[in-house]
Amino acid sequence: MQFIPVSGPSITQKEIDYVTDAVTNAWYGDANIYHDKFERAFANYLGVKYAIALPSCTSAIHLSLLALGITTGDEVIVPDVTWIASAAPINYVGATPVFADIDPQTWCISAESLESYITPKTKAIIPVNLYGGMPDMDAIIAIAKKYNLAVIEDAAESIGSEYHGRKAGSFGDTGVFSFHGSKTLTTGEGGMLVTDREDIYQRVLFLRDHGRKPGDKLFYNTEVGYKYKMSSMQAALGLAQLERIEELIDRKRQIFRWYQSELDCIQGLTLNYEPVNTKNTYWMVTIIIDDKMTIEKNQLMDELRKKNIDTRPFFHPLSSLLAYEKLANTKTTVANNRYSYKISQHGINLPSGMNMDREKIIYICQEIKKILA
Ligand SMILES: *Cc1c(COP(=O)(O)O)cnc(C)c1O
Repeated sequence: MQFIPVSGPSITQKEIDYVTDAVTNAWYGDANIYHDKFERAFANYLGVKYAIALPSCTSAIHLSLLALGITTGDEVIVPDVTWIASAAPINYVGATPVFADIDPQTWCISAESLESYITPKTKAIIPVNLYGGMPDMDAIIAIAKKYNLAVIEDAAESIGSEYHGRKAGSFGDTGVFSFHGSKTLTTGEGGMLVTDREDIYQRVLFLRDHGRKPGDKLFYNTEVGYKYKMSSMQAALGLAQLERIEELIDRKRQIFRWYQSELDCIQGLTLNYEPVNTKNTYWMVTIIIDDKMTIEKNQLMDELRKKNIDTRPFFHPLSSLLAYEKLANTKTTVANNRYSYKISQHGINLPSGMNMDREKIIYICQEIKKILA
């Protein structure tokens, strides 16, 4: 079997045609046509008022925090287990990330743990829809209302996921998406910030263009801002992908079902969870190995690697990383965030790219069964 990478996109003639058109025609007076189309189509898809195309999801979180006025001395709560991009922008604005535990079933932030970390300094929370799954959003939004906290929903891994009929990314003051090459919808590198709030929308447009009012023709800057813009070629790629979004999501769900039918019979393996009334888009099919099984996660990854099967470790708890070693609250979270430490230690992501097919998945699952036997 040829090497099976852990992730990758689906690119068709439509994407090639749109990007070719953008590089040929999206200049001069038409320089923004693909941004306008992509942003409008994205806002419609999500059912929100505004969408702003950006160079990354990291920049979307950074601008969300700035637009919400989060600054030095403030605390922002994030789940302990997520990609570091969910938390790093909190440091960019001089605030302090506080890491809450995850729920053992959804692997997303636990509402109970979140509430236990709230202090008078807490200003915002960043729930993350990990691997396409959804947290208990009703409980999280209720806590945010009770303590008057802003919500930035990190939907980087969850385009098309749903919670009680509502789309991922539409729950917070802002929602943020990633279009990195590994994500379900890709623009190579890219991101989107969505919001229903006119004030946030205007502030983000201003901040992402070096502190210029939208439409400014005088090149007169009233504040020092940032340069966070997407190119028209990326926007064209994004538009083509968005027009295929149902197909992309169906593919992800099919990939999960293929794995599920092969692995469900194995005692001691847990796969991604989809509670009733939610839709998981399974960005990464993930297995958690029961801690009663003798095999270590790294050993399983090494064995699969020998069979040309690429995997990734479940995200490490952020509080365990050298990057956050000096953080004041780190020491107290290790005992409190027990599910973060337990699940992360036993989880791996399986190949979930858009090029996966039934045959490859059967091969991978057979190898997993052999190794575990
Ligand atoms: C990929 C990812 C990001 C960052 O996206 P970029 O576009 O690479 O900046 C943020 N949060 C989560 C949960 C992610 O998976």
